[in-house]
Amino acid sequence: MLEMPPAHPFDDDKLKEECGVFGAVGVADAASFIALGLHALQHRGQEAGGIVTYDTEAGFQSARRFGYVRDNFTSQKVMETLPGPIGIGHVRYSTAGSKGNTAIRDVQPFFGEFAMGGAAIAHNGNITNAIALRRELIERGSIFQSSSDSECIIHLMARSLQRNIPERMKDALRRVEGAFSVVAMTRTKLIGVRDPRGVRPLVLGKIGDKGYILSSETCALDIIGAEFVREIEPGEMVVISDGKVQSSKPFEPKPSRFCIFEHVYFSRPDSILGGRSVYETRRQIGVELAIEAPVEADLVCPVPDSGTPAAIGYAFQSGIPYGMGIIRNQYMGRTFIEPSEQIRNMGVRLKLNVNRALIRDKRIILVDDSVVRGTTSQKIKDMLLDAGAAEVHFRIASPPTMWPCFYGVDTPDRDKLLAAYMSVEEMRVHLGVDSLQFISLDGLYRAAGVPEGRDAKAPRYCDACFSGEYPVVPSDMIDKGFQLKAAE
Ligand code: SF4
Repeated sequence: MLEMPPAHPFDDDKLKEECGVFGAVGVADAASFIALGLHALQHRGQEAGGIVTYDTEAGFQSARRFGYVRDNFTSQKVMETLPGPIGIGHVRYSTAGSKGNTAIRDVQPFFGEFAMGGAAIAHNGNITNAIALRRELIERGSIFQSSSDSECIIHLMARSLQRNIPERMKDALRRVEGAFSVVAMTRTKLIGVRDPRGVRPLVLGKIGDKGYILSSETCALDIIGAEFVREIEPGEMVVISDGKVQSSKPFEPKPSRFCIFEHVYFSRPDSILGGRSVYETRRQIGVELAIEAPVEADLVCPVPDSGTPAAIGYAFQSGIPYGMGIIRNQYMGRTFIEPSEQIRNMGVRLKLNVNRALIRDKRIILVDDSVVRGTTSQKIKDMLLDAGAAEVHFRIASPPTMWPCFYGVDTPDRDKLLAAYMSVEEMRVHLGVDSLQFISLDGLYRAAGVPEGRDAKAPRYCDACFSGEYPVVPSDMIDKGFQLKAAE
């Protein structure tokens, strides 16, 4: 039986993106491209991955595995089972479904056989009315195979009376609320769709004369040498076959609300989002932080790797030298060892180590991307003080994370988020640091390309985990008792 890779003892102090999607059509061996693409998207989900392909002789084939792409989709034995010029793939953390206890039946892509032929889908995001839809579908006779919210899409497609798969997908997705970037395939068509607000990313790439790629991020185009064509627009569906891309807008238009946390943390720094380099946005966040929250100090250090570009920006703006005061052990994968109690107590030291010679007797500005529960921040501060730092000042490249995300990011319950029940000063005392400051929402918007800052009446991004203002009402969660922020 396949085993899940054990979770790390300190992996619970970051928000986690829950999925990455990738599709290829019009190439000689789609599965190889997809495996490489998923490998480049591995930061979006490390728990499991899957690939579906279609070949005229072999028909639809699929492989779904727990663990890293590199451990599963490099073996010739597996890849030989996935022939054909078209396919899609998915990497997953655990989304709505069996969180932390994934079964192989929850691993995407999902497949459905319809009267007009088969179709497979892979979904990044989260359906916020999935519980209600599932109840309705089961009452009408649907038999679910998984506990995933994404499977609703297949069952809604099965109920549609449309005569082809793209039209059935449109019918299905019009019933779905929340965030979705979907890649799907039939025997001959690769399909990509983004929800009307475009909460999660999806891009189009081109390879060779007739090959097209759909991917969560542009970094996965680079790895296979594909050219970036454009982003799929919010509310757009593209259907690609025979080297042609057909575009339509099947949903009622809504103001675009891309996830601002993709800029802060989730996406890779070498990706391009909304025409902006993620690295440059993060560096600019550091510049804004240095303007908003200056402090006298000797050295600016990142918490590697996610705090690095912001620390570079902070050092540049403040004129304080930049240094690698904390070194990350690059080879510390999730598959290290089942953490024993003794290992668990070592916690963050397994992953990060202090560069003692550099930080001794210095006043340190430590730049991190976010504070979630605060457990890791506290341990890093202890490590710096143990190693002789004179002062520790935390600067955080996002506003306080006060609200959970319901759009495809794993967040702890609200009562576990430090900022939900403590003021910034209370957090400073709790973490035991000399000062603590977060970038403002306006500063974050400026860094993300909105010079005038956040427009409170019409924010350009989704920022619900900071503001509590959810662009799509999380109706399932409200049914379960979640309380929205009271109107001010
Ligand atoms: S709630 Fe936060 S993490 Fe979730 S989509 Fe919105 S900005 Fe992104």
